[in-house]
Amino acid sequence: MGLFDLTGRRALVTGSSQGIGFALARALGGAGAAVVLNGRDAGKLETAAGVLRAEGIAVEVAAFDVTDHAAVGEAVGRLGVLDVLVNNAGIQRRAPLEDFPEATWHELMRTNLDSVFYVAQAVARGMIARKRGKIINICSVQSELGRPSIAPYAASKGAVKMLTKGMCADWARYGLQVNGLGPGYFETELTAALVADPAFSDWLCKRTPAGRWGKVEELAGAAIFLASEASDFVNGQVIYVDGGLTSVV
Ligand code: NAP
Repeated sequence: MGLFDLTGRRALVTGSSQGIGFALARALGGAGAAVVLNGRDAGKLETAAGVLRAEGIAVEVAAFDVTDHAAVGEAVGRLGVLDVLVNNAGIQRRAPLEDFPEATWHELMRTNLDSVFYVAQAVARGMIARKRGKIINICSVQSELGRPSIAPYAASKGAVKMLTKGMCADWARYGLQVNGLGPGYFETELTAALVADPAFSDWLCKRTPAGRWGKVEELAGAAIFLASEASDFVNGQVIYVDGGLTSVV
């Protein structure tokens, strides 16, 4: 199992005070990495850090807004060496496309797409100098599939998939591996409205070959794989952890 051992590695997971980001930080920490938790709310970060520290994981917190280019540069400079970056912070905004407000479009693109460019560029410069690094961009089944009322979200996640391939094209030669992780439907605060809607939940369970929602712990294996030596020749790929959703109509 040494291939998957992250002892001695330091990982920044953006948007990790709750939900999928928190689960990914816990997974990387459980495999031996020291983790840096990020979000905008310092109080939420301290609470999350306390939970992981109680599990024996080495944790730092870095509160900054991933949409603020200057704040990202300052935080990444202060953090120093990072071996693994998970670009996870993201938001969902729903409205029929014909009524979708322009300001919300930009908020969504800034959070889901611009942030991936900002944080990855800042972190990759150090990785390129050290000729080693792992970047995991959190995509979605909406990187592949549309759905009514979330066209801007799908556009942002499709772009994250293509930015992943572009990062591979530019940075693989420097020893970096850049891959995507595409969750299906997982129960988190982001999906709370859908979980609470029996009609949606019923549709989802019928539409997903596995017949159920995902549990955030089920993202751990793919995350550890993509963060570890086990994936050293895997580059520019998106691994969908979705109970088969993107493979079946
Ligand atoms: P969530 O429960 O809403 O958590 C989002 C996290 O991101 C929080 O920690 C939040 O903390 C942080 N965040 C939001 N905006 C930020 C910003 N501008 N700067 C820094 N941190 C920010 O969401 P989730 O369900 O775990 O989703 C995480 C990622 O997985 C997203 O990229 C999402 O698109 C993707 N995803 C989720 C699902 C799903 O089923 N849940 C499926 C596919 C893909 P603060 O608010 O304190 O900043």
